[in-house]
Amino acid sequence: LFGYVGIEAVLDQMRSKMMKAGVEFNIMVVGQSGLGKSTLVNTLFKSKVSRKSCTPNYEETISKTVKLHSVSHVIEEKGVKMKLTVTDTPGFGDNINNENCWEPIVKYINEQYEKYLIEELNVNRKRRIPDSRVHSCIYFLPATGHRLRPIDIEFMKRLGNIVSIVPVIAKADTLTIEERLEFKERIRQDLTTNGICVYPLKEYDEDPEERILNNRIRDNIPFAVVGTDKEHQVNGNKVLGRKTKWGIIEVENVAHCEFVNLRDLLIRSHLQDLKDVTHNIHYETYRVQRLNQSNV
Ligand code: GDP
Ligand code: MG
Repeated sequence: LFGYVGIEAVLDQMRSKMMKAGVEFNIMVVGQSGLGKSTLVNTLFKSKVSRKSCTPNYEETISKTVKLHSVSHVIEEKGVKMKLTVTDTPGFGDNINNENCWEPIVKYINEQYEKYLIEELNVNRKRRIPDSRVHSCIYFLPATGHRLRPIDIEFMKRLGNIVSIVPVIAKADTLTIEERLEFKERIRQDLTTNGICVYPLKEYDEDPEERILNNRIRDNIPFAVVGTDKEHQVNGNKVLGRKTKWGIIEVENVAHCEFVNLRDLLIRSHLQDLKDVTHNIHYETYRVQRLNQSNV
């Protein structure tokens, strides 16, 4: 009956709608103070994805983060706009008593679900609900070389149920390559033994192809990252890097650290999946709980 259906045309329509609507993507950085969270956010905005088109108003020198705050950049590529928002958090561990130090973070994440829910339930609901939900939470682990600390276990256990966590080893330049590999292995063991859910979860792999791709990521987390706010001259090129006693660590060089792996996972290969998991799993869990309380 139908020799030619015209799926191509449907794809074109989807593409054109998407180009008009743009993409919203929200990342949050979490972890103890001094681990380089603010620096990494800065690095992300300065790195090659956004160098051409970003509005460079992000603070040049990094001061101590005292409250939760978000910075957005609109990146445009091939006619599609992506609004990338990163929420920086003050970090914990500064207090003598770190009990419940995850509360402000959990509260923020839930508040964004709540905002979305209220909009969805509104009689005159918007055709496009502004999305401030956290699509990915980067959790910073100190480069101790030992094991996960009780505070990290506690924190990630709580976060893992409400958001997609991507753990990273902070300031990886302070460890040798061998130390990094051993540390990563121990962390993966600790995550499993403690039943901590980190992204990407096996249960949500949709097909064998995705499973292979995600297994490769799961075998390689947590990414050992390095952040910087400086550019250095290497072979006549300006590169983002850190000067160490062994030479310059190039942040965007995959032979030096895994910053690029992290960046590509977040804003290239898994952006749509992170958004889908946020909407279909984490937000859905929140929504069901709230509607069961039925006092919305
Ligand atoms: P935050 O408290 O987690 O936001 O940490 P900051 O971004 O304010 O960084 C704290 C300090 O660590 C600063 O002096 C940074 O220059 C330094 N720092 C940040 N990233 C790295 C890194 O990847 N390696 C090393 N060695 N130092 C870093
Ligand atoms: Mg900070």
